[in-house]
Amino acid sequence: MKKIITLGILAVVLTACNQEKKENATDVVKTEVATEAKKKEPTTPEETEIWEPKPKVVTLDEATGIPSDAIVLFDGLNFDQWISSVDSTSVKWNLNKDGSMTVNDRTGDIQTKQNFGNIQLHLEWRSYLESTGSNQNKSNSGVFFQNRYEVQILDNNDNDTYVNGQVGSVYKQSIPLAKASAPTGHWNTYDIIFHAPEFDSDGNKTKSATITVLHNGVLIQDHFMLEGTTEYIGWPKNDAHGKAPIKLQDHGDNSGVSFRNIWVREL
Ligand code: MG
Repeated sequence: MKKIITLGILAVVLTACNQEKKENATDVVKTEVATEAKKKEPTTPEETEIWEPKPKVVTLDEATGIPSDAIVLFDGLNFDQWISSVDSTSVKWNLNKDGSMTVNDRTGDIQTKQNFGNIQLHLEWRSYLESTGSNQNKSNSGVFFQNRYEVQILDNNDNDTYVNGQVGSVYKQSIPLAKASAPTGHWNTYDIIFHAPEFDSDGNKTKSATITVLHNGVLIQDHFMLEGTTEYIGWPKNDAHGKAPIKLQDHGDNSGVSFRNIWVREL
């Protein structure tokens, strides 16, 4: 009797397995058919045209070149979008008559009031013609993404330094692909695409930040994957964080670096 029951159970299990195998086989066939359909070479141009959704329209201001969906962070008129990184009070840097601002030595970094995640940033900077410094002390500043990740600003014209800290480096992490500096005392442009890192609910990093930098229109960082924060001393850190300000550096050595025309697009 026991034997008969055991055989019965075995038969039921085998039938179920066969059914499951059949269903799996059907799924495989369906997938193969769908893949085949996609692989089938189109014979008309319309088969590979996509009409919707249409990208949003962005226009450029004819006078300034600023995209219509950009947030203007500095247009030369005031520091309304900025605060001191030292104590969150008003900015102590110098506002110049030519629409630029200059680091006021040892008054501290400045940062945006607004926090940002993924962005496209445009800024222009000028090294200090009168600088007598060398190595890391010649027009040193920097733009920090999310208050943590620095793209170096430095005058490396006739001025050598460690290459992972030279102009356009992701500080101490990525040597720039080229040195595309304007002559000392002339304006440079940085156009930077930054994608923020992501963290899970336990604070572990699940996705690294990436950065692409054009210096005066020349690609110098090509979707570099950051290892973490850009430390002066020590290895990169990866503490979890959310959106955070953009920061401009007062390196504290009479750098005399100036900035103008800063805008950002949120991505
Ligand atoms: Mg710096």
